[in-house]
Amino acid sequence: MRTLVRGGWVVGFAGHTHTLIPDGVVVYENDRVLHVGRRFEGAVDAEIDARGRLVAPGFIDTHVHSGHRASHRLITDTGRPDFYGQPFLEITVPREGTRVGGDPRYARPTDADADAGNRLLATFTVAEMLRNGITTFMEFGSQLRVQEALLGEVERLGIRAYLGAGYDSGRWVGDERGRLKRALNEAAGQKEFESALAFIERVDGGAGGRVRGLLAPREVETCSLDLLRATRKAADELGMPIVTHAAYNVIEFYDTLREHRMTPVELMESVGLLGRDLTVGHGNLVAENALLNYSGGRDLELMGRYGVTVSHCPVNIARRARYLDSWPKYRAAGINLALGSDTYPRDLIMQMRVASYVGKVVSHNLFAASAADVFEAATLGGARAVGRDDLGRLAPGAKADIVIIDLETRDSLRFGPVRDPIKALVECGIGDDVVTVIVDGAVRMRDRVVPGVDLAAIRGQAQQAGEAVWSRVQEWDPLGRTAEQMSPWSFPLVTDC
Ligand SMILES: [Zn+2]
Repeated sequence: MRTLVRGGWVVGFAGHTHTLIPDGVVVYENDRVLHVGRRFEGAVDAEIDARGRLVAPGFIDTHVHSGHRASHRLITDTGRPDFYGQPFLEITVPREGTRVGGDPRYARPTDADADAGNRLLATFTVAEMLRNGITTFMEFGSQLRVQEALLGEVERLGIRAYLGAGYDSGRWVGDERGRLKRALNEAAGQKEFESALAFIERVDGGAGGRVRGLLAPREVETCSLDLLRATRKAADELGMPIVTHAAYNVIEFYDTLREHRMTPVELMESVGLLGRDLTVGHGNLVAENALLNYSGGRDLELMGRYGVTVSHCPVNIARRARYLDSWPKYRAAGINLALGSDTYPRDLIMQMRVASYVGKVVSHNLFAASAADVFEAATLGGARAVGRDDLGRLAPGAKADIVIIDLETRDSLRFGPVRDPIKALVECGIGDDVVTVIVDGAVRMRDRVVPGVDLAAIRGQAQQAGEAVWSRVQEWDPLGRTAEQMSPWSFPLVTDC
């Protein structure tokens, strides 16, 4: 089956860089791109009309946690200063002996509706990504049963996924006074690691090759050194990428320094974890970041030397008053920059815009984090993270993972006149502008509709699930707060008028 997509602008590829082709065409046969150029003379079986639109490689989200992210809604414009702006500590660290309630990701497998809840989260996650033109994603360490639910939706809805159950040697909990405390359990971590291995060996190559495995030691400071070493060994044996949160958290940085006399990046080097197959979640709180007041840092040089990928999630960290310092320094060090959403919205166009603007502000350089740079990170950067030269580009032989983006939009003037489609997209676009998504040569969203998904119904179910999370905060919050105390309304709530 041979299909021709008639642009519009087409983002082509010339060896090491994307190119721009006005009024171009992309031809794909089955799951692979056959031709990209101004015209195609051969016969085709079908044609997709994308005239007046942008035809681009699908986006790669390198930092996804399955879910509707209702808990994150509690930490907008608020939070615990004693956690140094680290969001997950505020909303997923329960009082010792309790569990975060209402969120099926933390349910026991025996809990009623845990499976249905995880299925909803998986459907929400995959549908949101497809709707926003994300064709490949990397899951960042959710539990095994969350991965199982995701696997089903990845198979059904047709996205490309790197899945792998997370593991660690213990978690953070809150004590009776709300202080952070470590709950260590090395044996449980080892067991989790083994079941993660069994999962990735089972699913790798599934769904016609759309599913691949990855290793996900959740956070560098919550894993024992043995577990990190075992991760490296398994990654080498299996040829799978590794993801972990590191250099992402002030507490993690100082705790690691105090315990090991090394920064988190130095610690990763010491156990052999650094490499081209490692994607570091955030990697912004490195020794060189002035926020940490550390002297003599060499984290950027180390990550660059090993060709590590930093999964930069600019919206999430900006929301917490933090930043990557800076885009040009990371690039100059040789670090591969990729983009991730981590929280919400899973809209890489918005992520590109924030990465670009903050990149300019932090580096005091209007040339920094250009539209081309951030678009490259959302496509080729993600492909490098998973070691693929057939993703993130439209070139003969590459996977037919294609998005069609409306640069006019049906009912707004947001784009205005478009001269350069990439600059226009980064400055004026949103995920909703994506109209058609093709993954592996199959149309998975056509004219903004994802077959098999009722977006309104999912939104309704997610709202209900969110209300359940918000109503149960007091059951597990180490400070015993309600959702209203944890996250005051933006304006006074008035119900008696
Ligand atoms: Zn994360």
